[in-house]
Amino acid sequence: MSNILEVKGIKKRYKDFEAVKGIDLFVKEGEIFGFLGPNGAGKSTTINMLSTIIKPSEGTARINGFDNVTEKNKVRASIGLIFQESTLDEKLTANENLMLHCKFYGIDKDKREARIQEVLQIVDLTDKRKNIVETFSGGMKRRLEIARGLLHYPKVLFLDEPTVGLDPQTRAHIWEYILKLKEKAGITIFLTTHYMDEAEICDRVAVMDHGELIALDTPEQLKTNVGGDIIAISTENNQDAKQLIEQTYNTEVKLEQGILTFQVDKGSEFLVNFVKEFDIPITSVNLRRPTLNDVFLHLTGREIREESASSKDKMKRTMRG
Ligand code: ADP
Repeated sequence: MSNILEVKGIKKRYKDFEAVKGIDLFVKEGEIFGFLGPNGAGKSTTINMLSTIIKPSEGTARINGFDNVTEKNKVRASIGLIFQESTLDEKLTANENLMLHCKFYGIDKDKREARIQEVLQIVDLTDKRKNIVETFSGGMKRRLEIARGLLHYPKVLFLDEPTVGLDPQTRAHIWEYILKLKEKAGITIFLTTHYMDEAEICDRVAVMDHGELIALDTPEQLKTNVGGDIIAISTENNQDAKQLIEQTYNTEVKLEQGILTFQVDKGSEFLVNFVKEFDIPITSVNLRRPTLNDVFLHLTGREIREESASSKDKMKRTMRG
């Protein structure tokens, strides 16, 4: 499989602040590639550089074989973009929005009708074609944006936080469409997210923090690299239990919201003896495989908190109703 996207040493400086500190990566044709990181990590800045919206301070990026600084227009013709903020004209119908995009991208007049029908079908909006966008739900608007991003048959679709501000059910739906796209259109998808479950769906994930890539692999391999299983327990005296576990098993224990969490090698074998031998009464036990949140915690000592979305996200959520 060939590389549809190649990035070498890409940086973005704002005065003396480096938002992106030099990134190298490649994306294979047909992959779903995810950028996972907390708010402020530099994900949007990177996607903006790759999609020619802002110019890198240093480094190069090639998409579909074209340089994203010297061959900007060819890159633009090769990509579809779906931003965090809606860029639909809400006073127009779905059809009018799509038609405008066809004109903007110079799609031949005789091809427009078929393309519009095709993309509306992918996102299940065929029967809403003549409706004014203002009347659409948040999820429908996102779907229409995805449809619009596909009209000119891009090789790579960039999605910046594709489901931020949407309720869990709608998020799941949007994902169904994205996965359908991969199958039907054979398109390469590059997305940013701070949701763990979205990163799980990706073929490969680049973990970003403070403008740097701190890991890049398949979700499975990233989790395997954490090593071992995660044990979460609560006891009748969590403070003493924390100390006792740390001393006895030489492992770091985190106490949060009444739950003690730590990592061990073979979780189920460990638990059999632990439950029998532990001196402080245990009130609940849970054993699980590491998640991508554990990956981030393992790499940085911090968690990506999905619930503590930035004020930017909260504002968007309110605006999208
Ligand atoms: P993310 O998408 O991961 O939330 P961003 O790429 O939006 O992160 O931002 C990365 C960092 O760069 C943040 O600290 C942000 O404040 C800073 N930043 C982004 N755009 C600008 C700008 N135009 N001028 C100065 N700083 C910026």
